[in-house]
Amino acid sequence: MSDKGLLIVLSGPSGVGKGTVRKALFASDHNEFQYSISMTTRNKREGEVEGVDYFFRSKEEFEQMIENGRMLEHAQYVGNYYGTPLDYVEETLATGKDVFLEIEVKGAMQVREKVPDGVFIFLTPPDLGELKSRIVGRGTDSPAVIDERMNVAVSEIEMMASYDYAVVNDHVDSAVDQIREIIRAEHCRVDRVIGKYIKMIKEIN
Ligand code: 5GP
Repeated sequence: MSDKGLLIVLSGPSGVGKGTVRKALFASDHNEFQYSISMTTRNKREGEVEGVDYFFRSKEEFEQMIENGRMLEHAQYVGNYYGTPLDYVEETLATGKDVFLEIEVKGAMQVREKVPDGVFIFLTPPDLGELKSRIVGRGTDSPAVIDERMNVAVSEIEMMASYDYAVVNDHVDSAVDQIREIIRAEHCRVDRVIGKYIKMIKEIN
């Protein structure tokens, strides 16, 4: 009903390719939406950059942010904290721009509670064998972590029912196109547009 931006949440099981799809989405300059950089306590992987891939923080700093109510959502995932700093999201939405989050499913459900008019997109694998080879193929995790990620992933797929849209990640480009189309269509929903017209009608009367 307002001129606030949309909060778009891309989530889905571990290893489904959320990061790859999100990077492909933001590789283009046609985006009207802003990526919210997450905070994490996990170690930086090779090639990752502070303030680009994540804000890398200590456990103590992260817990302080939670305690001060400065996180929109947060979750512990495979032994580390991940979360969305609140200020950037609030400030960006207030300027009328859309904000895009790429987060795991527990965090997404917290956002759903706090921001029910957000757009919740579930990225899903074409099949589970494919999911396992992606997690293994990434080559950055130990066998124990791979097993844990896989177990988490299977239980996460069952959470699809809580989302507005499901996008199958069989090809990154087509997943990206579908996400863009979803966002475009969401902007045309009458409940998002009508408030502006009610205001205009009041003004001309
Ligand atoms: P990775 O360690 O592979 O970068 O990320 C592990 C998982 O954490 C992925 O599923 C990713 O989507 C999720 N993640 C990244 N940022 C956030 C965040 O801010 N909040 C939550 N809840 N999950 C996140």
